[in-house]
Amino acid sequence: LARIRALDGATHAYLETTERLALDQAERIDAAVAAGELSACGPLAGVPVAFKDNMNLAGTHTTCSSAMLANYVSPYTATCVARTIEAGGIPLGKLNMDEFAFGSSTETSAFGPSRNPWDLERVPGGSSGGSAAAVAAGLATVALGSDTGGSIRQPGSFCGTVAVKPTYGVVSRYGVVAFGSSLDQVGPFARSVEDAALACNAIAGRDALDCTSQDVRTDFTANLAEGVRGMRIGVVPAFMEAQGLTSEVKAKVEEAANHLSALGAKLVEVDLPNAQAAMSAYYVLGPCEAFSNLARFDSVRYGYRDPGHKDLGGQYEASRAAGFGPEARRRIMLGSYLLSAGVYDTYYYPAQQVRTLITQDYARAYEQVDCILAPVSPRTAFRFGEVSDPTDMYLSDMFTISINIAGNGGMSMPVGLGADTNLPVGVQLISPQFKDENMLRAAAALE
Ligand code: GLN
Repeated sequence: LARIRALDGATHAYLETTERLALDQAERIDAAVAAGELSACGPLAGVPVAFKDNMNLAGTHTTCSSAMLANYVSPYTATCVARTIEAGGIPLGKLNMDEFAFGSSTETSAFGPSRNPWDLERVPGGSSGGSAAAVAAGLATVALGSDTGGSIRQPGSFCGTVAVKPTYGVVSRYGVVAFGSSLDQVGPFARSVEDAALACNAIAGRDALDCTSQDVRTDFTANLAEGVRGMRIGVVPAFMEAQGLTSEVKAKVEEAANHLSALGAKLVEVDLPNAQAAMSAYYVLGPCEAFSNLARFDSVRYGYRDPGHKDLGGQYEASRAAGFGPEARRRIMLGSYLLSAGVYDTYYYPAQQVRTLITQDYARAYEQVDCILAPVSPRTAFRFGEVSDPTDMYLSDMFTISINIAGNGGMSMPVGLGADTNLPVGVQLISPQFKDENMLRAAAALE
């Protein structure tokens, strides 16, 4: 807590610290240690943890970094947060993000951006930028983020932390403010693969409050020490030739491939012919789901209320215009258009068909390989304001989005600094659905 007070003025990873909750939990664990009962406290006993601010923790704010929810206090706790605390984690607070998780830099936060601890002039990535910055700066040992199109993996890559998006359904979404319900998945940032795997163990599994959560009983730490001998690792030539991929990131991915091969893995070229359409499908499906999920922030059910209106329509309009920032408004307008009568058949329906094709591409690839190696982001962390065009910003996720579309597990593994920018580079490991242990095993070999 003292470290956050001293250093977070510069990084702005935290929106709120929860000192009372942290100290109560620490005292509880100290008492258990004194009584010789540490093992009863859970696998994260005493580990300082923090949460992206789209996750409810009873009695604290859940702002989604939006003026819309600036004064919202959670009446209940998200399952992923509750499980982290039940496992003995010490809750330090809530972390900055892009508004409602729309973005790749935290620049859309209504409360000001977070800064990359490696270079304070640069973005930490997003939308879980506060989570990545907190772990990279040593202001939390584990942080939870959410990933709809890359929002765990890309900031993990920019800040040089391990960052895991498990298979869709591994972690309950109950109590996490929804962006795209069919794409959203919660996962951990950590400084080692083992820490990330332990956090996955704590938060994974069926939750009666989220009907898409699965009865996962994987021990995510089980095969970390096995090495990659005999593992089949896929590389996607089209990803490596993609326009916009910088040479320093490409070199790091090739280096990682060679390293895995030298350790006994077999590299296999795989083709994902429809992955090139992932971005287009995502920017139809994502805004449609966001439009529908954000309808509840109408000043009556939830959210900022513009004062002084006598008619409801006027109150809705003024409250939503004032409460949502430009990127949130862009997504809502886009979703409302794409789902309107006449237009639906032209965009939403084909996007769902593309989704099926991409899912089939991955299923076919995984007949040949146990895991796929790819870039996370085409480049390293950029400067504030450097990427100002929204569609250029969307390209940050060109290598991560197809994984959410297909529901696979994906993670970013730090592999050192780029030769040109001297900033962290992560490589992406992608696993078949519900075989997240495969990517963690390969990541551990790169550590
Ligand atoms: N950057 C992507 C977007 O803006 C992904 C965001 C996310 O994964 N939450 O939609």
